[in-house]
Amino acid sequence: MTSITEPAAPPVADAAPLGEFDIAIVGAGFSGLGMAIKLKQAGFDDLVMLERADEVGGTWWSNTYPDCACDVPSHLYSFSFAPNPNWSQTYSTQPQIRDYLRTIADHYELRPHLRFGHAVREARWDEATGRWEIATSHGLVRARVLIPAMGPLTEPRIPDLPGLSEFDGPVFHSARWDHSVDLSGKRVAAVGTGASAIQFVPAIQPRVEKLYVFQRTAPWVVPHPNRPIRDVERRLYRTLPAAQRLVRGAIYTAREALVLGFVKRPRLMRVLERGARRHMERQVPDPELRAKLTPDYTLGCKRILPSNRWYPALGKPNVELVSGGAREVRGNAIVGADGVERPVDAIVFATGFHATDMPIGRAVRGRDGRLLDDLWQGSPRAYLGTAVAGFPNLFFLLGPNTGLGHSSMVYMIESQIAHVMGALETMRRAGAATVEVRPEAQERYNAELDARMAGTVWNTGCASWYLDETGRNATLWPDWTWRFRRRAARFDPAAYELRAGVGAAVAGAQSPTAASMPPTRRSSTSSPGVAHTSSLRTSTSTGPA
Ligand SMILES: Cc1cc2nc3c(=O)[nH]c(=O)nc-3n(C[C@H](O)[C@H](O)[C@H](O)COP(=O)(O)OP(=O)(O)OC[C@H]3O[C@@H](n4cnc5c(N)ncnc54)[C@H](O)[C@@H]3O)c2cc1C
Repeated sequence: MTSITEPAAPPVADAAPLGEFDIAIVGAGFSGLGMAIKLKQAGFDDLVMLERADEVGGTWWSNTYPDCACDVPSHLYSFSFAPNPNWSQTYSTQPQIRDYLRTIADHYELRPHLRFGHAVREARWDEATGRWEIATSHGLVRARVLIPAMGPLTEPRIPDLPGLSEFDGPVFHSARWDHSVDLSGKRVAAVGTGASAIQFVPAIQPRVEKLYVFQRTAPWVVPHPNRPIRDVERRLYRTLPAAQRLVRGAIYTAREALVLGFVKRPRLMRVLERGARRHMERQVPDPELRAKLTPDYTLGCKRILPSNRWYPALGKPNVELVSGGAREVRGNAIVGADGVERPVDAIVFATGFHATDMPIGRAVRGRDGRLLDDLWQGSPRAYLGTAVAGFPNLFFLLGPNTGLGHSSMVYMIESQIAHVMGALETMRRAGAATVEVRPEAQERYNAELDARMAGTVWNTGCASWYLDETGRNATLWPDWTWRFRRRAARFDPAAYELRAGVGAAVAGAQSPTAASMPPTRRSSTSSPGVAHTSSLRTSTSTGPA
């Protein structure tokens, strides 16, 4: 597999000093922004946000392909503390989500902390100073605490097709859409039939001359319930925020019901399969095409995709669905598993991301200079997807096993943010210099995860990007999401070792009592699009915060 990555990292020692901060966050998507807001509200102001892009937004800044949108309703796919009463449809488009996140950055006055164009190349724990040394494309940053919020779906993955480098035409990944290329009247190959392809294929189909869609495995596709949000609803949400919270809660609960099928009883997925089959039968009259489009695995094993436009687009005369995926590129032709050469003018890859083999594994070194990848050996593991033994004062957001196949990632992000706040507040109270998860707590946690994963739909025999190179599901959280919230938001000091300085443990810091979360300060300013702010629910909150 080829990845579109940054140039090789300069050694930390060669980097010019850029500054010293208490806390460094890497990434300014939902995770980084949410974390910075909560840190500032709790008085952790000595904060830098390193972001390689030119703007905030993360996923919603970089994915600009036609008709890019979320597939979790926006009332839920947004911060609990910053609801947007102005969403124009139930499932928002990429520009709307990007603008929401920009408004968040302005509203919470995060811009002074942001360093755009700063790609983090390497981070190394310095035991002598108790600081992280972070080599960026602009120099060296030192920080007591490092929070990688670099996103699980950040690095596009492109298959190493033989002959691809000799292809004499535009080639790009859906997550780096090349808007300088006009696909009108062109013969285009779209490789992949996942969540991104299903959105842009119907959008480009009417304007291309010919579209070859290379499908390795057929996805399960369900009807898309998107609809415009009426003015009267928006007015209601503006005047009565509780109404929007109620809708959010209802969406959360309905989505959570899917956990029954995903985790507890995969056979229940048959009910949804029947609905998905009916959807296909209604939209695909051609039995031959229907056969190619019928998945051969249990619904939910791979991501379930909502669309009302996918099947109709594939049935158009200028579209050919090629089963078995793309095999190689020969001159200006792309060759499918059937061995047929199909001449094309452009190739668009919608082949996903380096989700379980993220570059961060090769960039972060903990105590003793050990790389994360050396520790992980192809299978990322952390405690609550957040902390890794041997890596003091480091907190991942959306680390291993925090993904969801059915609900909002923002819910998981907020849960982890509460955990980090619990850790930092505990350190502050105890006067600790470092906090580090105990190896036995991390092992116990992962053994529990693996045991729970065994009976899930994701282990029913499909090949998915949820699985790492060892075949282990290192991506998803295998339980109710409120269970993750309950566990993560209640910071348990017994799982951690706190030290006053290098080598010294903090007396009393290992008390098994949960650290109670201090109240967060409220932002008093208001801005369009972000109507109401309130503090993040923490501790034992089990609802859709
Ligand atoms: C097309 C698409 C649609 C999606 N739809 C949904 C959905 O409907 N619902 C849902 O719950 N989830 C969805 N997701 C998942 C989505 O990624 C998460 O919901 C969420 O946006 C992740 O936020 P994040 O801040 O953790 O990561 P990101 O949004 O990926 O942000 C990470 C940031 O880190 C920066 N970064 C990475 N590496 C470095 C580095 N070395 N140095 C400096 N900066 C770096 C990146 O530039 C980026 O800005 C979708 C993902 C994609 C790709």
